[in-house]
Amino acid sequence: MSAHIQTVTGSVPVEAIQLADGHEHVWINPADGVSTEARIELNDYTRICQELVSFKTAGGTLLVDCQPGDAGRDSRQLRRLSAGTGVLITATTGAHQRKYYPPESWQWRADADEAARFFISELTEGTVESLDEGGEPVRAAVIKIGYEGVIEGQTRVLMEAAAVASQQTGASILFHTEAGRNIEALIPFFEKHGVPPTRLYMCHVDKRPDIGLHRELGRAGVLLGYDTFGRQKYDPDHNVWELIPALAADGLAGAMAVCLDFAFPSMWKSFGGGPGLTYLQEEVLPRLAQIGLDAAIMKRLIARNVAERLAWT
Ligand SMILES: [Zn+2]
Repeated sequence: MSAHIQTVTGSVPVEAIQLADGHEHVWINPADGVSTEARIELNDYTRICQELVSFKTAGGTLLVDCQPGDAGRDSRQLRRLSAGTGVLITATTGAHQRKYYPPESWQWRADADEAARFFISELTEGTVESLDEGGEPVRAAVIKIGYEGVIEGQTRVLMEAAAVASQQTGASILFHTEAGRNIEALIPFFEKHGVPPTRLYMCHVDKRPDIGLHRELGRAGVLLGYDTFGRQKYDPDHNVWELIPALAADGLAGAMAVCLDFAFPSMWKSFGGGPGLTYLQEEVLPRLAQIGLDAAIMKRLIARNVAERLAWT
């Protein structure tokens, strides 16, 4: 049997994924009590639907939603959006950075056992909001950790919990990183806790375009999420667009995932902003072809690598 990924509308084979945005935000409805600076609202169903239809029409198949529970996720809306547009979506359990939670949030007081039980139940039984009032379960596909570069305090507790949940289910761990800060520390920590690099997915790392480090992580089996394409402030021409051909030339095309990470409505065309989710099809894909990547390698970057990482092993 081929590997499958658990989407919000059910299980699909990894081969069904033709074009994925490997780190996206499809719905964010922040909880009361989150500070104004950390409030991102992406919760207009009609506009989100419009953008998803454009993504689908342009050949998009999967969006990896990266908002964990209690940090603004609503997996019921993700399921409704997926069913309504035909775009596959995966949901995330785990924990984001502290700033996205209200002060009293239980995740930031839980011990590792409690957090691990919660992550496992969201992966295997259903997300907490989907099970509310006896609803149909929506299961998470992956465990997110908001990693600011230091493994200590509650972040360490949540990482230990993520390791247990990964071991028990086979799900991968996806990291928010602060522009790649201290990502070197993740492999040793997780190896010590029984999770191999082949289950780690480190996002936003092209903001730290250290080619030697990317090679090392890629060789170890980490999936590297690149997402500065649509953002001139990160100078993508001289960073991500130099990383991709360099790693591909080293035989590391299996280590990269192409993502947009457009969390703000101002980045969506349907909200009157841009560049919009079809930036992947309109700008990134043609440029991957233009730099000389062959079709099989392109397919890895834009679909297969992330699909395989989302499949439980
Ligand atoms: Zn993100």
